[in-house]
Amino acid sequence: MKVVVIGSGEMGHGIAEVMAIYKNEVTLVDIKDEILDKAISKIRESLDRLKKRGSIEEEPEDILKRITKSINLEEAVKDADLVIEAVPEIVDLKQNIFKRLDQFTKPDAILATNTSNIRISEISKFVNKKDRVVGMHFFNPPVLMQLVEIIKGPDTSPEVVQKLYEITKQIGKTPVIVNKDTPGFIVNRINAAESLFICLVLQKGINYEEVDAYFRSLGLPMGPYELMDYVGLDIVAHSLEYFAKEISPEYGKCTKIKEMVNNGLLGRKSGRGFYDWTKGRPQINAKQNPIIDVNDLLAIDINEASKLLEDNVATPNDIETAVKLGMNRPFGPITVAKSADLNDVKSRLERISSEYGITIFQPTDSIKTGKLKELLEGEKKEEKKEFETLNVSKEGKVAIVKLNRPKLNLINYTLLDELDRLLTELWNDRSINVILITGEGQNFSGGAELSAPITDQVQFLELVRKGERTFKRLTEIPKIVIAFVKGYALGGGFELSSYCDLRIATENAVFGFPETGLGLVPAWGGTQRLPKLIGISRAMYLILTAQRISAKEALEYGLVNKIVKDENEALEFAKDLSERIAPISAMLAKRLINRGSEVPIDVGLEMESIAGGLLFTTEDLKEGIVAFFSKRKPEFKGK
Ligand code: NAD
Repeated sequence: MKVVVIGSGEMGHGIAEVMAIYKNEVTLVDIKDEILDKAISKIRESLDRLKKRGSIEEEPEDILKRITKSINLEEAVKDADLVIEAVPEIVDLKQNIFKRLDQFTKPDAILATNTSNIRISEISKFVNKKDRVVGMHFFNPPVLMQLVEIIKGPDTSPEVVQKLYEITKQIGKTPVIVNKDTPGFIVNRINAAESLFICLVLQKGINYEEVDAYFRSLGLPMGPYELMDYVGLDIVAHSLEYFAKEISPEYGKCTKIKEMVNNGLLGRKSGRGFYDWTKGRPQINAKQNPIIDVNDLLAIDINEASKLLEDNVATPNDIETAVKLGMNRPFGPITVAKSADLNDVKSRLERISSEYGITIFQPTDSIKTGKLKELLEGEKKEEKKEFETLNVSKEGKVAIVKLNRPKLNLINYTLLDELDRLLTELWNDRSINVILITGEGQNFSGGAELSAPITDQVQFLELVRKGERTFKRLTEIPKIVIAFVKGYALGGGFELSSYCDLRIATENAVFGFPETGLGLVPAWGGTQRLPKLIGISRAMYLILTAQRISAKEALEYGLVNKIVKDENEALEFAKDLSERIAPISAMLAKRLINRGSEVPIDVGLEMESIAGGLLFTTEDLKEGIVAFFSKRKPEFKGK
């Protein structure tokens, strides 16, 4: 993938380094050659350190070969697949860069910003391709920090979010999704409230060293003031200023930190902030004094997290992950909220709010009413049902599963993951007897997403294993699984259909394995499953010639069981089976057929007789026989 990183400062050079480590071709853009040279030498130093620690296998020089420098933004971005902007946090500057990106990038390029706080909609204000603009918020230093917040703007296309989510995983990071374009997203939103609080405590005239000594004694890596120094007081001040403008002027009540910044005290980066950093990490020898109660800080975190939940900004899981990874905490506010006494949280917040005269510390409605716990549970249930790459609906006893990745429904890791999760959900769902799998739009599936950024053999192997495992479950799930194929069922799409128990297709369906013509083999079980379905000779022909066959030919091969006119007819067929066929019989029959073909016939026959015996006492057998003789439809219960 071609990645362009704009701005080679603190964040930009680190992002470029990560992207290059994971085998992407990177162009690093800045305004002056000297700045870029400095950035490259920082990357070299960092790569040398990683190599020494054994964290990378490749030689640093080979990784550096994938990074090019440029001071010509227009030229650099013209064939980029992904642009990540990391220039200073100034709205006009970012807007201007995005105006140029709008004009000079390919129509399908992803235009990401590493902004810490600014709304995506503000940055993309003058952009035409607003659907391509998205937040990709790394944490400092990008090489070491796991978390990346992916922020949806109001116009960001779901496809862009999905792609970026996958790219983030491919570069070894943990993505969380920020569903709403809100200032500070997850981590900085929670951080800002904490910063405001500890700044207000400071302004009362306390000894901050005693607070830090106390926090360190609790086993935390840093106290709150030391941490602000570490992050950069300028960054904290800037963020509070932004929140004062965007969320509440109360964030502006912290004046002390701004004062320090104006006096050149920026913390670690300038050598001096609350502490002297010129000789490395400060020694803190003050007595431990619990001036700040840790539970007060946790109450503030829970309050901010509940605002994010009430506003549907992110799921509880993502909030928890973001705080753990982004703030280096052993647990996040969701874990605390789950076990906390919400009355205690409420009274702490009310006390803090009245002590400092700050309304943003007032407990939210969900804390006051105790609904927060429900909100966590409710969201969790919804979360489980939501799929990004599948549309799932139910008609009678049929679950209709549509692959939903326009236009070709290409299969990626997320789709496999979601299909796997869906099968687990349906496994013991007795209201469903048949699963009908098809694609949204004109096609079943054009195959695996080969353009997905696979960075090494191990990742590719994992993708292959994931496909095999997921598809194999279709042969084991105690339901009749039908593939309804229309348009293309190629490569991985063909393999998916071949793992279903039955295949029905429209006349325009096309089956084929293009793999051998691409230097691959059908690797999601294609070489193993297909010969079982249509015999070695025909499977050999299809795989070795990479020829496509029509639905009619597939019917002649016995690959397709039935040709149908359209989706309605396919659904009718599925519904009929869901009512007419006893679910336990279907479950056992499919297993006997699939497993029976793998064992000696005597074993298969033994299995068959045991299955027959097992069915002998079921209610459904009695119902089937009675219904047959009464000439009525059976009503099977799966018992
Ligand atoms: P920085 O000041 O260290 O680096 C910014 C770089 O952008 C500089 O090298 C500068 O020369 C370059 N630049 C300025 N104008 C440019 C232009 N027109 N074209 C190309 N390059 C230009 O800033 P940073 O700390 O790396 O922050 C960058 C972004 O990342 C900001 O939006 C910031 O909020 C965000 N961020 C920062 C941190 C952090 O801890 N520093 C963490 C997460 C996100």
